[in-house]
Amino acid sequence: MIVVDGAHNEGGGQIVRTAVGLSAVTGKDVRVENIRANRPKRGLSVQHVCAVNAVAQMYSARTKGVFVGSKCIEFYPGKERATKDIKVNISTAGSVGLILQPLIIAALGRGDKINIEVEGGASFGKWAPPVTYIQRVFCRAVSAFGCDVKVEVLRQGFYPKGGCLLRAEIKTTKPRRAVIGCFEEGVKIYGESVASRSLLRRDVALRQAQSAKKMLCDAGLFKEVSIDTRYVDSVSTGSGIVLWTEGNMFLGASCVGEAGKRAEEVGEGAASEMIEGYRARACVDKYLCDQLIPFLAMRGGMIKTSEITKHTETNIWVVEKFTGVAFDVNIEDQTVSIRK
Ligand code: ATP
Repeated sequence: MIVVDGAHNEGGGQIVRTAVGLSAVTGKDVRVENIRANRPKRGLSVQHVCAVNAVAQMYSARTKGVFVGSKCIEFYPGKERATKDIKVNISTAGSVGLILQPLIIAALGRGDKINIEVEGGASFGKWAPPVTYIQRVFCRAVSAFGCDVKVEVLRQGFYPKGGCLLRAEIKTTKPRRAVIGCFEEGVKIYGESVASRSLLRRDVALRQAQSAKKMLCDAGLFKEVSIDTRYVDSVSTGSGIVLWTEGNMFLGASCVGEAGKRAEEVGEGAASEMIEGYRARACVDKYLCDQLIPFLAMRGGMIKTSEITKHTETNIWVVEKFTGVAFDVNIEDQTVSIRK
């Protein structure tokens, strides 16, 4: 059995998600100890419990210790293929983007099409990838490795009640090595600014979009900026904005609205993150970098980012335990590659 120390380096929930996803793909049993030791509220939260149970559904896995607050779990993937229709219900405003993360890793071990339905949770949340980011940045990037993921949001969810409704379809195609390292000058920036319908009279989605656009245009780095605005029905009131590049560049940036934060600050928060990544001549933003580590290990290739974060270092450490693949991290060039 592989034993993973959940307190290592970043010490967050990502260690659990990656370990369980890779246990499923490789068929290796795993125990994760000291779960989320570096978070103020240690142990599994509802969102992590949902994620682990969903991967267990996908692989008929036997689990031990999977409950809210648990600091140690064991995951024994089954030998037989299990259901291809996964349903996840999440009662809190936990991140739906983070629930999808281990499911997409786990799907690398299944050749058939997997259907996922998530009910509840937040499509926009702090310290997590918004679902629009998953759609526009993460899914595009993993398709370069031969993993096709389609995500459809039927209802957006915001803090504190969540209430998102989402369907996803995952199908792995021919494994592909991906080299994402060719920086392009003067790309177009796309965006989506979303707010609950009740925020329409305060023009929240529009103000987020306008302030982001102004900052991006003033930076003089981009060919064009095009940001859509949408007002949506949701259980809790909220807002957020996601920006991204297309083509061979996978840069995303986002910001979530919250009480007391002006819509302009939300737009500028996302825009400044995009400008920072672009000025660093990255092809993959710093969040995507850690999220692609399992795909690099399973498929091979190289990525160039803006910052090698603790999340990236930690994910490399977890992935190496399962795959035996060795990574090369070049701090000067900000590249991560698989040693041949
Ligand atoms: P929490 O304490 O909020 O429950 P966690 O401990 O489960 O979080 P972490 O280990 O911190 O989670 O992992 C967070 C993941 O979310 C990482 O993969 C990181 O790249 C991703 N992430 C965080 N913020 C963003 C963002 N703004 N855009 C995209 N991805 C993000």
